[in-house]
Amino acid sequence: MKSIKLTPFLLLCIILSCSAPQSERVSDIDNGPKVKLVIHGGAGTIKRENMDSETEKAYRDKLEEALRAGSAVLDAGGETCEAVMKAINVMENSPLFNAGVGAVFTASGENELDASIMKGDDLNAGAVAGVKTLKNPILAAYEVMLNSPHVMLSGKGAEAFAEEQGLEIVDPDYFKTERRKSQLEKVQKRVEKEFGTVGAVARDASGNICAGTSTGGMTNKKWGRIGDSPVIGAGTYANNATCGVSATGHGEYFIRSSAGFDVSALMDYRSETVADASKQVIDKIEKLGGKGGLIALDAQGNVAMPFSTSGMYRGYITEDGEVVVQIYGDE
Ligand code: ASP
Repeated sequence: MKSIKLTPFLLLCIILSCSAPQSERVSDIDNGPKVKLVIHGGAGTIKRENMDSETEKAYRDKLEEALRAGSAVLDAGGETCEAVMKAINVMENSPLFNAGVGAVFTASGENELDASIMKGDDLNAGAVAGVKTLKNPILAAYEVMLNSPHVMLSGKGAEAFAEEQGLEIVDPDYFKTERRKSQLEKVQKRVEKEFGTVGAVARDASGNICAGTSTGGMTNKKWGRIGDSPVIGAGTYANNATCGVSATGHGEYFIRSSAGFDVSALMDYRSETVADASKQVIDKIEKLGGKGGLIALDAQGNVAMPFSTSGMYRGYITEDGEVVVQIYGDE
């Protein structure tokens, strides 16, 4: 056998390759094609072996539909928040995702929804929490941002405000799907937590960013529990100087970590790339014991989609119209 001479250069190569970070969650295309819209449909225990091909196709098709709907708004010269809302509406109106009609059940068998939205140009933001009758909570969050002097409204007050703004009100039974009901029964038996959420971040040609998130929260939640999704700086954040962020996962950890703001702060104060900043935040949350993921898009169109769960429904569309949709950790 031919022996290989260990030159100093070869030794250095071996050391460097051994210390390369081991990560399954590389979905970042920093400095790759310029992205105009990125979305997620929730992170969680999403594994190939538990998914049949029909369900997988349904998820991929719906994610693509959401991307194309939001992208069409941008192509027609619409604002980034309109694109975010359009993409989120597609997912809110699908029972596949834990938002809108697909919202999970609380411990008492109700559905309490949360949403938030933020603009990166003036840092204006709006949110609703614990609403039970709003078909599309992301639209209510937008109205709070535009037409109220507040950032967050909750419960019945938020519903009354949304009705005044002419938004669609539904009977609470609208959210009672069989799939989520049986999920509650299973979760109650196992005493485990289930999550999932939808979110979008859009950017226009001038570098304006908008980020939004909408969720049913966590299955079996009680005591009026509110997660990170409607909390500006945790589940949602946007700043044209840095990036827009929408998170999904175990909300308490994302609130405690100020996740969305932390990604922006790492970019702002330490000049990190969107990919490095996003991954660090997910790593920090995992160290605290929290699982989940986030999508982030900077003003130049670099995107990051790190997660610490086995999968995250996610996708983006580039300025050239290329659509990428992914589900599992190895994609
Ligand atoms: N973050 C959401 C919450 O804690 C749930 C999720 O994203 O899956 O309410």
